[in-house]
Formats: sequence, C-alpha cells, structure tokens
Amino acid sequence: MLTYNQLVSTISNGSAVSLQIPRVPALRNRLRDNPVTGSKRVLLAAPRGYCAGVDRAVIAVEKALEKFGAPVYVRKQIVHNIHVVSTLEKQGAIFVDDVGEVPEGSHVVFSAHGVSPAVVQSAADRGLDAIDATCPLVTKVHREATRFARDDYEILLIGHHGHEEVEGTMGHAPERTILVGSPADVASVEVRNPDHVVWLSQTTLSVDETMETVRRLRERFPLLQDPPSDDICYATQNRQVAIKKVAPDADLVIVVGSAKMRFAFIEIQ
Ligand code: SF4
Repeated sequence: MLTYNQLVSTISNGSAVSLQIPRVPALRNRLRDNPVTGSKRVLLAAPRGYCAGVDRAVIAVEKALEKFGAPVYVRKQIVHNIHVVSTLEKQGAIFVDDVGEVPEGSHVVFSAHGVSPAVVQSAADRGLDAIDATCPLVTKVHREATRFARDDYEILLIGHHGHEEVEGTMGHAPERTILVGSPADVASVEVRNPDHVVWLSQTTLSVDETMETVRRLRERFPLLQDPPSDDICYATQNRQVAIKKVAPDADLVIVVGSAKMRFAFIEIQ
C-alpha cells in the first residue's frame, strides 16, 4: 500500500503538504467580513471551509490521477462537497462505497476518514494498488484503539452510528470496542470489567456533547481512563469555537454544506 507521503514525494519530488496549511480553504476564503448593501450584515466565521486532512486527501486523488491516469477509484466520498467531488469525477475519479466494487488491479484511494484493517486486507486480496490518504489525526485514534485493546482495556468509542470513521476505528479493535452514540446511550452501556475501561472518540464531534457523554460515563465507571490526547481534532474544535463567537451577533447562522454532512450539534449558550 502506498502512503500519502510516498505518493506525493514520488510525483513532486518534494515534501508532503503540511497538515497545517490547508490549500482549498485558502482559495475559498476570499470573501471578506465587509458589510453588504442595505441593513443586513454577513458575518463570516473563521476558520471555515474544509480541513487540512480532507484537503490532503483531495491532493492524493489529484496526484494519483496525475501519476497513474484515469480511472482512479476512491473509497467513500473524499469530502461532502458536490463541487469538489464532481470536479474530481470529471478528471477520472470514480467514487465507490466498497472496495468490492473496484476492478482487480486498479488504483484505489482510502479517504481521510480512514479504514479498518479488514478493508486494507480486502483491497490486497483483490490485487488493488491502495493509496492511504487517512488523516494522521484519525490514524492517531486507530493507534490508540489498537494499543488499549492490546492492554486488555474495553474501549468506549463515542461516535455516530454508521459513520465511516467510526467503522474504521472500531475495525482496529472489534472485540474490545463499544460504540456510545450519545449521552442518552450511556445508561445502557455494559462492560465486562468497569475497572479497565477507556473512552476514545470520533474526531468530528461536538466537544460539548462529547464532554457530557464522558461525564455520564464517568458517573457509571469512576475509573474510566481518558485518551492520551484530544481525539476531537483541532479543525473541528476551531470551527465550533468560531460559530460560538459569531452566533451571539447573528440572527441566523447558515452552515453551507452538503445534506450528507453530519453536523456536530453545538449548543450556543
Ligand atoms: S481528523 Fe480533523 S483534520 Fe483530519 S480529516 Fe478529520 S476533520 Fe479533518
């Protein structure tokens, strides 16, 4: 399997694009916080636009098309943005839900959401040339899951049922992971050993709701261990802070995006 860095360096002979320097958001952020004509003002939250991890995955698809030619298959939508997806489709990308849909011997990119080891194996079994564009911040959670499972912990993974990132993370420790979808789910969580449990989370959740879930989990399992560092990523957290900042000055907050997006619910105080 080709990693993102190997793909980029083999093509550009340069260094991998830094996760800290989102490319497309910079292009998309040409609007300014200027008053519009009339009595209404449009406030723009900052930061906005999609994150560096997704930007990096889009670059992986572009580079794969450049290096290998069309078609290049992409497992799952690379970003929930119809314009980006249709632009890549015009260049020869084909989006699929499952590697079983990819013809043997083809190139396939794993999206930023990450995949389970079973998906990697399935791609290998089909003789696919896989390019791993999993966001490093998702890979970090995968490693945590693997390590805690190895150390005999039960993992309470806070995340959305059916989300591809959650499926990928659970796939790294399927026997040891229990999905907790919301604070309301906490009451029904059953563990084998309440003294050896840890919580991890999806990277794209509401911080406030997640902390409420953790609070309730800790009420039930006082020895609940925290993850070594925040699993909800900086891009997600920054955008939630940005909305909280502009919302008190706004009559209406409009989130521009695809209907496929799962929004983290943010309670504005
Ligand atoms: S973990 Fe954060 S930065 Fe990485 S792809 Fe997900 S939202 Fe983007």
